[in-house]
Amino acid sequence: MQRRWLLVRGLGLALGAVMLWWAQEPGQAQAGDGKKWYKGNLHTHTSHSDGDSTPMEVAAWYKGNRYQFLALTDHNYFTEIEGLNAMHAAHERFLLITGEEVTDAFDRKPVHINGVGLTRLVAPTGGRTMVETIQKNVDAIRAAGGLPSVNHPNFGWAFGSKELLQVEGANLFEVYNGHHGVNNLGGGGWESMDELWDALLTAGKRWHGIAVDDAHTFKTTGKNLAVPGRGWVVARAARLEAGEIMAAIRAGDFYASTGVELASVERSERGLKLEVKPASSFKHRVHFIGRNGKVLKAVTENVAEYQLQPGDGYVRARVDASNGDQAWTQPVWAR
Ligand SMILES: [Zn+2]
Ligand SMILES: [Zn+2]
Repeated sequence: MQRRWLLVRGLGLALGAVMLWWAQEPGQAQAGDGKKWYKGNLHTHTSHSDGDSTPMEVAAWYKGNRYQFLALTDHNYFTEIEGLNAMHAAHERFLLITGEEVTDAFDRKPVHINGVGLTRLVAPTGGRTMVETIQKNVDAIRAAGGLPSVNHPNFGWAFGSKELLQVEGANLFEVYNGHHGVNNLGGGGWESMDELWDALLTAGKRWHGIAVDDAHTFKTTGKNLAVPGRGWVVARAARLEAGEIMAAIRAGDFYASTGVELASVERSERGLKLEVKPASSFKHRVHFIGRNGKVLKAVTENVAEYQLQPGDGYVRARVDASNGDQAWTQPVWAR
């Protein structure tokens, strides 16, 4: 009798877990144009370079943790994804996008540029200056059909906004990278990633910021290990397809997060409106940020809005939660 009760209870728990899975199945529609939100990570490593797990294991981690898309970006290695995608394609659940971390250096400082959606391997180009090294790798990624994304500028204190202001053909960088060695917050006279972003935007360069894991370690955890689940993007697309996701990333139709969830983001030339999903135990503040990183407005409501004023130039939003989690929307520009 007791065994039967345990069996029934076990089945009930399993059914509950399945229902929870379906209830939380992302790709939920947002009112209006019918587009949906898809969560993904655009920077991660496998055993094809210095990661500790195979591409199949890494894909399984992200799929199992409710991500919908993933780019495998190994150092100077192009991973074929057809087989993995065929395994995961059912029910619009999970999509692998091609990727590579084109890994170069100038003057022994790291120059790592991700190519997302590449059609083939891109070899690091080298260059005679830091700017030329970044530029040539960006150009090589674009020539291979990829979307260039500038990784962790403060890793090895390699370069900053001064160099990126001189780069053409790229508009994506990591405002947050989950690797413990990348110095997101700057210091000692070096820009934080938020400051770097505002330096670019203030100069009229329309860059977008992503959050990524740069995960290497899936089999062990620890503060000083590059584990998954620290930073991601949530892109708004008509369907889960590489071209659609890439178009959303290119257009800035996404937000970056380390934990804060947004229910909606409305961007227009008039301004920016967003809604923070309420969290049970954390409080938050929304900062609307403009030229030179100036905080134009700070509010604590879930629904927050900023209307661009003449002379503002641009506005972007960052949500800071009391537990340290953050989210970043992409900037909008006055006409
Ligand atoms: Zn790197
Ligand atoms: Zn990396």
